[in-house]
Amino acid sequence: MSLMPVADALRQVLAGAEPLGTETVALDDALGRVLAEDLAAKRTQPPDDVSAMDGYAVRAADTAEAPAVLTVIGEVAAGHPFEGKVGPGQAARIFTGGVVPAGADCVVVQEVTERDGDRVTIKRPGINGKHIRRKGIDFSEGQVLLARGRRLDDRDLMLAASMNYPLVPVHRRPKVAIVGTGDELVMPGTEPKPGEIVYSNGFALTALARGEGAEARDFGIARDRIEDIAAHVRRAREWGADILVTSGGASVGEHDLVQRALKAEGLDLSFWRVALRPGRPMMHGRLGRLQVLGVPGNPVSSYVCSVLFLVPLIRRLAGQSDLERARETARLGRDLPENDEREDYLRAMLTFGADGPIATPVSSQDSSLMAPLSRSGCLVIRPPHAPAAAAGSPCVILKLAL
Ligand code: AMP
Ligand code: MG
Repeated sequence: MSLMPVADALRQVLAGAEPLGTETVALDDALGRVLAEDLAAKRTQPPDDVSAMDGYAVRAADTAEAPAVLTVIGEVAAGHPFEGKVGPGQAARIFTGGVVPAGADCVVVQEVTERDGDRVTIKRPGINGKHIRRKGIDFSEGQVLLARGRRLDDRDLMLAASMNYPLVPVHRRPKVAIVGTGDELVMPGTEPKPGEIVYSNGFALTALARGEGAEARDFGIARDRIEDIAAHVRRAREWGADILVTSGGASVGEHDLVQRALKAEGLDLSFWRVALRPGRPMMHGRLGRLQVLGVPGNPVSSYVCSVLFLVPLIRRLAGQSDLERARETARLGRDLPENDEREDYLRAMLTFGADGPIATPVSSQDSSLMAPLSRSGCLVIRPPHAPAAAAGSPCVILKLAL
């Protein structure tokens, strides 16, 4: 069986994965949620012409021959409009955010004025339109400012609030169940016996899924027995998982334990061999409506495969329009040899040089090494059969840091 290209594998994972249903949440709870509908502004911002400074609202023509002495007929503060009209020879005291009264066509900053009772001397000519924020310069009622499929960030919450949305329609958050496998694994904090190692994959995958807005739960370690793996899978299904991620137990050396356990549960397998490094074996299938990703046990592989397949799958189920993490360009910090038939994702340090980012792949790319993964700021992506590349040449990277 030949290896499937990464892009084809991702297409298969996403085929048939539909956005989940929708719900309405308070804006205060909407950070990281994905909009299920376009949001059109319910109001115009600013709703009127307002002053950008503290000063006097005047008619510019009256101040053309400055100094000019004007009569102060009222005061306008933010939230306290002035009903009157500024006529010839008149001015209104105004503060930032105050609605520019009718008749006035500019604001003169208070620094170039001198007040004396109900008189104000304008010492420099005002310029028509100066220091006025026009009605609607930010946005107008009816304008779609936040599109369906957008994952709301902090600034989007600010904007949605100003558009007058106390609640927003969002997609349900995907539920991601994580299951580890291995007789050798023990939880952190326990004293490993000879031959045992500490379970670590689940912590990264749970955090990765949560960072992508999913509700994630780690179902812990299944022992290398079909019944125990199946029992963990059943628990994940009872919880209502939309996605199940298993790690380990999928290599041929272990007799495809995870695949056999899942097949016994009714798995419809779509692939299990992808032309990817690190990432052998990488499996996908469906158990009814449950999407199943079987990532390798080696920690780095489990993480890279999750970035490549779990992240887009979460985003698709969450209704997000951009499915993959952004790729960027950088320059190589060292020479790289020619690549083979597998798409390579090299752990690399990310620094900033005089002409932009520099990605320097760490010296050992062994897929079990967690310390260099933790230090890496990005993955350098090398397509299958990429030719040798010299330090300084451009490369494509995927950033890892938060
Ligand atoms: P496997 O795919 O089960 O053959 O695992 C490959 C390697 O990854 C083995 O050395 C395992 O001990 C290790 N490994 C598997 N699962 C985990 C895990 N959840 N946390 C840390 N290491 C793991
Ligand atoms: Mg194992």
